[in-house]
Order: sequence, then C-alpha cells, then structure tokens
Amino acid sequence: MKVLIVEDEPAIRETMAGYLQKEGYVCEQAGDYDTADEKVDLYEYDLVILDITLPGGSGLDVLRRLKKRNPETGVLIVSAKNSLDDKVAGLDLGADDYLTKPFFLPELNARVKALLRRRFFKGSPSIVFEEIEIDLGTNIMNVHGQPVELTKKEYDLLVYFITNQNRVLTKATIAEHLWGDYMDLADRFDLVYSHIKNLRKKIVQHGGNDYIKTVYGMGYKFTSP
Ligand code: CA
Repeated sequence: MKVLIVEDEPAIRETMAGYLQKEGYVCEQAGDYDTADEKVDLYEYDLVILDITLPGGSGLDVLRRLKKRNPETGVLIVSAKNSLDDKVAGLDLGADDYLTKPFFLPELNARVKALLRRRFFKGSPSIVFEEIEIDLGTNIMNVHGQPVELTKKEYDLLVYFITNQNRVLTKATIAEHLWGDYMDLADRFDLVYSHIKNLRKKIVQHGGNDYIKTVYGMGYKFTSP
C-alpha cells in the first residue's frame, strides 16, 4: 500500500514515515502545500495522511483536488488544530477519518489499517479471488486452501492486481506502487518483471490458474477466467 504523508513538521513527518515503512507501507512525504498538491496531481496513492495547516496553503484544498482526481484514495486528516470546523470541512470533502495531534504511533497505525481495510476490502480479513485467498494480516496466500508464503513485494503486487482487476497496469505504475516515486524507474522494470514471474510461479505451482496476462508494449492485466 502506498501512502503520502503531508506534514510540515519534519520530525513528526519522518517519525510517521519511519514507523509506517516498518509496518510495510511505501511512504512518500510532502512538507508543504505545493509539494503535496503536485504529488496528488502526478501520482496515485492508497492513502493520504493530511495535515491541514501547511506552509503555502490549506490541506483542505489538497483534499479537494485529490478527491476530484482520485476519489478512491483514502484520507486521514491529522491536525494539531482541534477545531470542529476543520474536522467537519474535511469529512464533508470526503476524508475518511480524523486524528488529533499529539497521538501515539500505534494509534496512527491502527487507524490507517482500519481505514484501508474499510475502503478497499469492505472490512473483510481476507480477499478471495477464485481459488486464491489472501490473508490480509499476514503475507500468506492460500491456493486451493494450501498456504503459500509470499515476500512483502509479492504480497503487495498480488493485492494490487486483485484490487485492479481487468485494468492494464503499466510497468511504471506497478513500480511506483511498489517503491514510490523516488526510484529510477528504468532500474525497477527488471525487478517488476522478476516479482511477477515469481508470483506467477507460486500460484501455478500450487495448482492455481495464471491470471496475470502480459499486454504487449503496455504492461500487465489481472483477468478473471
Ligand atoms: Ca502543520
């Protein structure tokens, strides 16, 4: 899952990013309004953690723009300003939840987890696709009821494919999802290829169907049989 952290206090922002990275999220950071605005314009995120009072503008304007471009993105507002107006305005604009600073990191993590589960998996502890079941708490995939261990990247890749069924995903989109925007994409394409190859192999070796289709010159598509 790919997360953008918008927060102007560098110490808070980096602490959040470090903590969430350890939890397995790909984190990008924005320290002011312009950076945040540019990032939500250029990239897709599963979740944006959004501070309201930012140098250069209001987080509420970032939220407005984000909801226009990518309404699927989850939004958790995090603000020191415990004002009812901000909270109501944020929720009105489509934010999913609200957390008041200061907070403990495990609380942030719990909110993030719950929010993503609600938004993407309708609160279910696992995703089922034909003979494949992914346990969302762990990196275990069951194929025909047989547990298969996945690496973190394979797990992220499979969840990404299943939640974007029948949509052509370019190698660049996949690389961005797995590593964020700060990597040289050309270097990542080989890695995308090998993660896909390994994931396919694990599914097929356990009797599953190969749902990952190569779309020549474009990328990959996860298709139902
Ligand atoms: Ca702030």
